[in-house]
Amino acid sequence: MPEKRDYYEVLGVQRTAAEDDLKKAYRKLAKKYHPDMNPGDKEAESRFKEANEAYAVLSDPEKRAKYDQYGHAGMDGQGFGFDPSGLNIDLEDIFGSFFGGFGQSSRRRQGPQRGANLKYRMGLDFLEAAFGVEKDITITKEDLCEACRGSGSRDGSTPVPCGACHGTGQVSSRQQTLFGNVMTSRPCPSCGGTGSQIQDPCPECRGSGRKNRSKKLRIKVPAGINDGEMLTMRNEGEPGARGGPPGDLYVEIHIRPHPVFQRQGYDTYCEVPVTFAQAALGGDIEVPTIDGPSTYSLREGTQPEEVLRLRGKGIPHLNRPGQRGDHIVKVTVEIPRHLGGRQKDLLREFESLSQDRQYENRKRFSDRIRDLFRDRP
Ligand SMILES: [Zn+2]
Ligand SMILES: [Zn+2]
Repeated sequence: MPEKRDYYEVLGVQRTAAEDDLKKAYRKLAKKYHPDMNPGDKEAESRFKEANEAYAVLSDPEKRAKYDQYGHAGMDGQGFGFDPSGLNIDLEDIFGSFFGGFGQSSRRRQGPQRGANLKYRMGLDFLEAAFGVEKDITITKEDLCEACRGSGSRDGSTPVPCGACHGTGQVSSRQQTLFGNVMTSRPCPSCGGTGSQIQDPCPECRGSGRKNRSKKLRIKVPAGINDGEMLTMRNEGEPGARGGPPGDLYVEIHIRPHPVFQRQGYDTYCEVPVTFAQAALGGDIEVPTIDGPSTYSLREGTQPEEVLRLRGKGIPHLNRPGQRGDHIVKVTVEIPRHLGGRQKDLLREFESLSQDRQYENRKRFSDRIRDLFRDRP
């Protein structure tokens, strides 16, 4: 992945830019790179997304402050990171002055809008990820207010149609333009385009219909999941607006390192040190696997760094039940230190009995050296 560009750079504004300047810069980019204007142009599409993301962060004072302080890391470093796919940027708002004004009504503003997606980072132990686990998590999200069931009105009372727009959510005005007199419509300012007005606001949510709530969720993590992968919890994001469906919750998996095992795909790796006598003589050694200790019969004359493959002893496949990766073991040979006198005597005796053909590498090496110096005068 290419380096993420600085959000200010993306929008082409100073770090001190005021809200209005941000909006102006964003509008310009959004118009230029909007997919409807550049059908099939991948470059434009990614520019458009980049601008959306930058604007979503910088137009939110809280997110902007965090970004100023921590950069991109600040956007992703905690329970709820920033998820660009969950952006709800109202294009009508952005394009109002562009597409609007020619007699089109902005219907979209009134329609149902899907709720924002949320992201949760879940840390797992190596073995939890390998074999799957169930975890309870608590997320805090904006949810519908329970007291008024999201209506914003004190229980029992119903919102009345907005007087300013007669319940349509739109107000029209005549405008003088280059093309002559045209009728333009825009969202009603007194009801925010909803078409209704709350007379008696719910005391719990002060009429917003929303409240921050903690919710406990049981997450079933399947065996074989890998670092960085996401689980999607459908409809567990924030609630939609005007009857729109809720967003999703993405659970991003982060696997903590294991002191013994490493992992690549579905294969597991570890190193096992053996003594030089074990390597020379062969025999059964104990090898750790994710299922526990396993016995492996080492062949006679095993060399340092030799790699053993234990088939089907790795991580269970995420989508293929019953299948598992391999466990790959690197044998390291340890040379003993602090030998006692008798050990040294035995080794000297052992060495005196050794023959060239028992040390292939050494023999090859001394042959090569001999060849190298033979022709010297
Ligand atoms: Zn309420
Ligand atoms: Zn209204």
